[in-house]
Amino acid sequence: PSPTSTTSSAAHRRSSSGVPGRVRVAVRLRPRNAEELVEDADFADCVELQPELKRLKLRKNNWDSDTYEFDELLTEFASQKRVYEVVAKPVVESVLEGYNGTVMAYGQTGTGKTYTLGRLGEEDTAARGIMVRSMEDILVDISPETDSVSVSYLQLYMETIQDLLDPANDNISIVEDPKTGDVSLPGATLVEVGDQHSFVELLRLGEAHRFAANTKLNTESSRSHAILMVHVRRSVKGRHEREATFPRENGNTSHLTKTLKPPIIRKSKLVVVDLAGSERIDKSGSEGRTLEEAKSINLSLSALGKCINALAENSAHVPVRDSKLTRLLRDSFGGTARTSLVVTIGPSPRHRGETASTIMFGQRAMKVENMVKLKEEFDYKSLARRLDIQLDKLIAEHER
Ligand code: ADP
Ligand code: MG
Repeated sequence: PSPTSTTSSAAHRRSSSGVPGRVRVAVRLRPRNAEELVEDADFADCVELQPELKRLKLRKNNWDSDTYEFDELLTEFASQKRVYEVVAKPVVESVLEGYNGTVMAYGQTGTGKTYTLGRLGEEDTAARGIMVRSMEDILVDISPETDSVSVSYLQLYMETIQDLLDPANDNISIVEDPKTGDVSLPGATLVEVGDQHSFVELLRLGEAHRFAANTKLNTESSRSHAILMVHVRRSVKGRHEREATFPRENGNTSHLTKTLKPPIIRKSKLVVVDLAGSERIDKSGSEGRTLEEAKSINLSLSALGKCINALAENSAHVPVRDSKLTRLLRDSFGGTARTSLVVTIGPSPRHRGETASTIMFGQRAMKVENMVKLKEEFDYKSLARRLDIQLDKLIAEHER
């Protein structure tokens, strides 16, 4: 493999408006664990990070290594705070401005995906992960009178979406808006979040349900994807960038036309995805599974890889519909969201092969260009209330 440029040509796909926003990719190296410190003491790490040069060297042998460029390199000394600031904060800020955003972790099991995204950090606040820190920034910024934040928390395992906030709800379907292509999960529990404490409680509840569900299914959490969705709804006051004219009907006058500045709402979504482990699973069925099951377990992950390859190569066909994960993430890759990916790797030379394939995934993801677009719409409901007319009539008039 040769070093890949960090820039890519702007692709005009799907969306006609919006601004180009390439998927940003950071690499995070976890420190050696106790076992690696002892057992691999005689061996050098298989990677070397040069953060100031934004470069990563992957050792081929004692003499030679391949060099790759990334947007950010986070060494084993990078704090959770720094990781949040580099990987997630720009995305969270966009979400607060009304754009969709995605933060996703990809890597082999045991390299720190959950550590990076999901740590609650209650015993040690410095250890707080991206989910917790994102919500802190969101809650500080929004105003409780006019805005709202609500979350869903899901697990995707073998093409089944389970509700981590309600274990009985174990087969949620994805609904796509035929007009806009937006995907939603109307069956998922949506909980409004008022404060940080209740959010952390929700995460803890979700984790407990995930553990219970996986015990029942006789699988490990590393085999499934955990997906947190944070819906932010804000009303934009005093900044009417658009004007609309609505005809008003009243009893005597047939048509009275009045120019109004309808309130604007911004409905954006932050999606945080803790992906299943990227390692090849043993197809011999070491967990007592059949070959078919083994394939299905990572179907979504391989479909994601295929979509990213297609997007990176500007291919005409992106197989979004091949899995639930890619359907859920269609706005995150090649869509209108701002997307940040953190690929996690370990230092051990024993896992060099898996580390190399993780790095290549990250390299390809860097070539994916989204068209980032504001998620705003007129607040028809409140306008209709003000005008005292029927909502459907108002919408019909405006969209005519
Ligand atoms: P994954 O979710 O990718 O399977 P985990 O997040 O569970 O991996 O991490 C595996 C182990 O490594 C855990 O014990 C975790 O605490 C530890 N770990 C991961 N990343 C770091 C890090 N940056 N610093 C210290 N320990 C880490
Ligand atoms: Mg994990």
